[in-house]
Amino acid sequence: MAILRFKALDEMSKREPVKADLPDKKISDYFGADVFDREKMRQYIPKEAYESLCTAVDEGRRIDRKIANQVAQGMKTWAMEKGATHYSHWFQPLNDSTAEKHDAFFEPMFGGGSFEAFKGELLVQQEPDASSFPTGGLRNTFEARGYSAWDPSSPAFILDRTLCIPSIFIAYTGEALDFKTPLLKSLQAIDKAAVEVCQLFDKDVRKVNVTLGWEQEYFLVDEALFLARPDLAQTGRTLMGHIAAKDQQLDDHYFGAIPSRVLEYMKDFELQAYRLGIPIKTRHNEVAPNQFECAPVFEEANIAVDHNTLLMTLMRRLAQKHKLRVLFHEKPFAGVNGSGKHCNWSLLTDTGVNLLAPGKTPKNNIQFLTFFVNTIMAAHNYGPLFMASIATQSNSHRLGSHEAPPAVMSVFTGSTLSAILDSLEERLSDKKLTPDEKTEIKLDIGKIPEILLDNTDRNRTSPFAFTGNRFEFRATGSSNNCAAPLIPINTAVAEQLTLFKAEVDKLIDKGVKKDEAILQIIRKYIIESKKIRFEGNGYSAEWLREADRRGLESIQSVPDAFKIFSSKAYSKLFDKHKVFNESEIHARYEINMENLIKKIQIESRVLADMAANHIVPTAIHYQNILIKNVQGLKDILPNEYLDLAAEEIRTIQTIAKHVKAIRENTYLMVEARKKYNHMDNLVARATGYSEDVLIYLDKIRHDIDKLELIVDDELWPLPKYREMMTIN
Ligand code: ADP
Ligand code: MG
Repeated sequence: MAILRFKALDEMSKREPVKADLPDKKISDYFGADVFDREKMRQYIPKEAYESLCTAVDEGRRIDRKIANQVAQGMKTWAMEKGATHYSHWFQPLNDSTAEKHDAFFEPMFGGGSFEAFKGELLVQQEPDASSFPTGGLRNTFEARGYSAWDPSSPAFILDRTLCIPSIFIAYTGEALDFKTPLLKSLQAIDKAAVEVCQLFDKDVRKVNVTLGWEQEYFLVDEALFLARPDLAQTGRTLMGHIAAKDQQLDDHYFGAIPSRVLEYMKDFELQAYRLGIPIKTRHNEVAPNQFECAPVFEEANIAVDHNTLLMTLMRRLAQKHKLRVLFHEKPFAGVNGSGKHCNWSLLTDTGVNLLAPGKTPKNNIQFLTFFVNTIMAAHNYGPLFMASIATQSNSHRLGSHEAPPAVMSVFTGSTLSAILDSLEERLSDKKLTPDEKTEIKLDIGKIPEILLDNTDRNRTSPFAFTGNRFEFRATGSSNNCAAPLIPINTAVAEQLTLFKAEVDKLIDKGVKKDEAILQIIRKYIIESKKIRFEGNGYSAEWLREADRRGLESIQSVPDAFKIFSSKAYSKLFDKHKVFNESEIHARYEINMENLIKKIQIESRVLADMAANHIVPTAIHYQNILIKNVQGLKDILPNEYLDLAAEEIRTIQTIAKHVKAIRENTYLMVEARKKYNHMDNLVARATGYSEDVLIYLDKIRHDIDKLELIVDDELWPLPKYREMMTIN
């Protein structure tokens, strides 16, 4: 009965590391080899076209047809020289993946012969049949036309002999149906607002970019074991499984030696990543067994987001070569840490200044404080929106437990900066400073240590922590698209900077000196945003009580998060900065609710199937063995068997109880599904699923996990936690 599990274990035990084919060269020799970057553009596109393309990209302007044709020509020539046969718009629809539709360059000619073509219009815009991407009621399928449009700010690349063109994806009616469109708009909004504020300090600043450095966590499981677990294969997480005797208690996995099979896998995907210009810098084991992390050097946010999604694709593909499967689910295994994707966020000017890094002079540091305090203020005003942006069914298993930030926003600044903010609050006022006071305060601001990257002052329990020269948003889930949290963060900071500039200008108009005006508004914000600052343990129960006392909104459930995201106060913000309009927000709301229902529905079906077809028959089989044994004892030892077989009889009873509970709860779960499936109201259906249906998943699991401890190991059909958490 349990053949598949043992076959899988046997297969795993025989695996050898699959060598990565590393070239005999330095990384810098092939870094970006498969990317149509500026250097290649200069070689393959006529000078004039190249220059106007660069200006258009740098200034966010439209690209005209003629130039598009020349770029397409150049791209095609380059790609074909590298062996590409197809091209594809590459975009990020509102599900967990990326989308591509490949077309051949090849064109047959009427009457025989053929040639290779790629016109500017195909580079600029394409019409994939979009009917099966999530659309949230924006379009009916019979007029299912969405189109993808070239994003020239992210370079094209070659993947598997296909020229991939990063694109946005929008409905025929103009609404965004992807992550990239609103991300680009939020980047424009923050650029505009930040440049205006920078002008208070430095007239040379013309552009401000968001920088993003993500840290991707993931689990690996041997392919044979993965395939022997229908829950993992179909839902990305285990719906049952008793925690292994040795899990992460010894903390011996973290920063331990990387298993050789895994190391070869890492080398392989890193090689591909380097060729695609993804600057992976670190690799290491994570806290849980079989959990790992990789992180690149930060990049401009739009590119960093593309690189993260592209890397996830590479990681999925290459895992199979190594007979592994990569899990991006936030909580594939109960009882051990889940996976996140920390998003390190900062602002960089075109003059090369990191606006969140303290500098050498008082002037630099007033600029730093301006951006620092405005970001805190944005988190204060829009904290629930930040948290709501990364709420998904899978991430909800991780948030709020002892491993990931709770669903309430707080900002950690570190003791040095916390003390500086407190002292500014105390010493500044809205009155004019005396020259002495002014000198003294400036002197103090000038003393903010230039490098605050002090590892001893790290708080790993805060959702939004300042880490010396950037903010780290830690609530993002490993499967989230990084754009999800970046969109509200960028937009909220843009809003905040706009307000700041207006308030400072008003004071200047009243005759207050610029420096004093800036300091006064900074002080005002320090006071107003105080309740969001928290330096203590964000995982503790006391913090949740404290947050409640402070009046910080916490997110109670996933449907709740979707409601918050689309609430009036926040949709006004998005609308004002032209990031989302009303119907786009509504579409996202529907898509998220639908996804939530589908995910729970699939989990529930898979669990019901596994319970009925794998677990219950196994339990009964084992129970029958015990019954036979008791029966036999009774036959030969009629007077003693009750005493001798007492334990067996109890086990027979226990099994019967668990089987009964599993059956009853499965029945009730299916009934609950039926009940909510019949509800027309989307919110009622989503809430019902996330409250009533989900509960049964835990209940059923509870009894199954108990059975796992009772039933003969030889009979247990599914790979166990301890087996899935080793890689030989
Ligand atoms: P830790 O585990 O201590 O957080 P890591 O080295 O794993 O540190 O990750 C740090 C991440 O922060 C990297 O992805 C890095 O590129 C990113 N980072 C560093 N400076 C910036 C910055 N100015 N803007 C955005 N990201 C940054
Ligand atoms: Mg980190």
